[in-house]
Amino acid sequence: MRQLGDLDCKGKRVLIRADLNVPLNENLEITDDNRIKQFLPTLQAVLEKGGRAILMSHLGEPSGADSAFSLKPVARRLSELLGTDVALASDCVGAEVSKLASDLKDGQVLLLENLRFHSGEKKNDPEFASQLAKLGDVFVSDAFATAHRNHASMVGVPKLFKEKSAGLLMQKELDYYYKALEKPKKPLCVVIGGSKVSSKLTALINLSSKADKLIIGGAMANTFLAAQGLQMGRSLYEPELAGKALELLGTLARRDCKVYLPVDVVVAPNLNSKGLGRAVPVQEIPADTMALDIGPATSLLFKEALHTAETIVWNGPMGAYENEDFARGTHDMCESIANTHALTVVGGGDTDAAIHHMQLAHKFSFISTAGGAFLALLEGNSLPGIKALE
Ligand code: ADP
Ligand code: MG
Repeated sequence: MRQLGDLDCKGKRVLIRADLNVPLNENLEITDDNRIKQFLPTLQAVLEKGGRAILMSHLGEPSGADSAFSLKPVARRLSELLGTDVALASDCVGAEVSKLASDLKDGQVLLLENLRFHSGEKKNDPEFASQLAKLGDVFVSDAFATAHRNHASMVGVPKLFKEKSAGLLMQKELDYYYKALEKPKKPLCVVIGGSKVSSKLTALINLSSKADKLIIGGAMANTFLAAQGLQMGRSLYEPELAGKALELLGTLARRDCKVYLPVDVVVAPNLNSKGLGRAVPVQEIPADTMALDIGPATSLLFKEALHTAETIVWNGPMGAYENEDFARGTHDMCESIANTHALTVVGGGDTDAAIHHMQLAHKFSFISTAGGAFLALLEGNSLPGIKALE
């Protein structure tokens, strides 16, 4: 795969697929502009190389052209951050857009309207891809967070270009993945949390062949504890996965991968409880309560397990962090990881949200901009949006 540094952009129309899918509130204001900020270096590099930037992205899940999903707020924010005008086209294909693209001058930026206004995007329709591809002379993909999708702009379009490369963010995401999971400095400690074993079972199986230590927290851990015969009260867990959980523990034991499960949990009547949480040993979960966070003894245990790691990969919160009462375990995990000297790589939509909410992002070597694509890498899958660049 070529890097942006090796791509000739001078005087060229550089068609760039970015992931500018940022969250908006009901007033259509951006609530987190991290993805726009992370894309800036690629855009600036293309402009410095004398290119004319034509940007494509999706936003949300519109059904047809719906102004609530317009990239207008993105164009405005991008223009502020870049300090140059960013023109927004009224569509992403068609005669008017072609004219705007061909009239573009060196150093100028044109943002195309939401790709998902056309059903051809998600269907990877060849006709739609060919219309998009005609807008550029060379192609750059920086949309790592969408790389697991077999969509037109991610797969169909790059296949039509000879001159193409990864953007700087895409490259950085892949470099960190490689350093953390393909050629990690050992010991490699993987921390997995979040809500369901079922959504991460494939990742757990793949990681179980790589990790030297596996730390399991969140509701995910409840399934493992229940499988070992503990009474989980009204906690969220998946009894039907008990067999798979035990099988996985057996595989890990045979590989001499050390597994760490919670020894205490914070219990409360429900997810919205306020001021009622208390820590109990996992052997003593009251029948009418839910385990909603890891307890202080577990935080200490996990901290000690992390201490010797040279590489740490983390996905999934340690508790129901959206409620402050159950955010402590996730906060402790941030601190523990930060206090190691390891290379630390984090990914996952909720994990990222929790870390940013707690203002602890600076404590990590790298936080992926992706949820689904990061998980797909953890599962050991090759990503269609990356294969199409090779
Ligand atoms: P990510 O998006 O980082 O991959 P997940 O989506 O797998 O993470 O999991 C995050 C969700 O898991 C959060 O909504 C959080 O509230 C929930 N969660 C974590 N631990 C628990 C728990 N013990 N009980 C209920 N929900 C939990
Ligand atoms: Mg999530």
